[in-house]
Amino acid sequence: MSDLLERLRGRGWRMTAQRRVVAEVLDGEHVHLTADEVLARAAARLPEISRATVYNTLGELVSLGEVVEVTTDGRAKRYDPNAHRPHHHLVCSRCGAIRDVHPGGDPLADLPASERFGFTLSAVEMTYWGVCPDCR
Ligand SMILES: [Zn+2]
Ligand SMILES: [Zn+2]
Repeated sequence: MSDLLERLRGRGWRMTAQRRVVAEVLDGEHVHLTADEVLARAAARLPEISRATVYNTLGELVSLGEVVEVTTDGRAKRYDPNAHRPHHHLVCSRCGAIRDVHPGGDPLADLPASERFGFTLSAVEMTYWGVCPDCR
């Protein structure tokens, strides 16, 4: 699966060795890495990569809309390449494992008018908490 890389190639993203490594680290399913985790994994593949390049590339991928920032566990900001399919997150309260989930239905539509306080809704982000099979 190289979905993110394919999308970036498709839109003509300038692919230097350093930028490619950042995209490769984020590629795949159920990927939710902090900036420091991206840096550590990128440096394992390309030792000369700089922190500034990693952070700048992450910022650029977010502004392109190809990676989304999530704060699923209420702590660190994480980078999620599953940017084009709306989803929620399932988080293990013991080890922090995160899965992308698609519960079905439309949570935006499910919020009754009496609970909207006159707001126009644009997005919803839900986190399901539980204990994963490895921790149980
Ligand atoms: Zn767990
Ligand atoms: Zn996700």
